[in-house]
Amino acid sequence: MNDLTCIIIGGGHAGLAALKAIKDETRGMANGRRIRFVLFDKQSGHVRKVLLFRPAVGGEEIMIPWTHWFPEGVEFVQGTVTSVDSGEKRIRYKDAQGNDARIHYDLFTTA
Ligand SMILES: Cc1cc2nc3c(=O)[nH]c(=O)nc-3n(C[C@H](O)[C@H](O)[C@H](O)COP(=O)(O)OP(=O)(O)OC[C@H]3O[C@@H](n4cnc5c(N)ncnc54)[C@H](O)[C@@H]3O)c2cc1C
Repeated sequence: MNDLTCIIIGGGHAGLAALKAIKDETRGMANGRRIRFVLFDKQSGHVRKVLLFRPAVGGEEIMIPWTHWFPEGVEFVQGTVTSVDSGEKRIRYKDAQGNDARIHYDLFTTA
């Protein structure tokens, strides 16, 4: 049987917490099918917003790579989501190169 695709849009605190909660709750399976987790964000990593002042004063890096949060079992897509078609269960987005792209989902949350 095919994997289920679970898409989380937004890798801020809310999105990361949602992804962790869904992973923990499902243990990566639903109805006997493996869940493929895909995190979408327009940034290339999680921005620690509460530290936004630091790069201004000291050049400190406040972007944390996605793999720091989920070293395995999660795919990351850098892209800007432009629409969600809940009827077709399809997300449209612009990838990091600015190309239009689509992806099918079975489970979806936005944060
Ligand atoms: C300078 C500063 C200091 C702060 N200090 C504190 C503090 O001390 N204590 C506190 O509790 N809160 C603080 N906050 C607020 C706190 O940072 C926010 O409440 C929190 O980050 C919100 O998290 P979120 O996940 O809801 O949203 P966000 O952090 O905004 O995350 C949304 C994510 O979605 C992505 N995204 C958005 N649209 C799209 C799209 N169309 N396609 C793909 N990706 C998309 C964004 O790139 C982002 O990564 C501060 C905020 C700032 C700016």
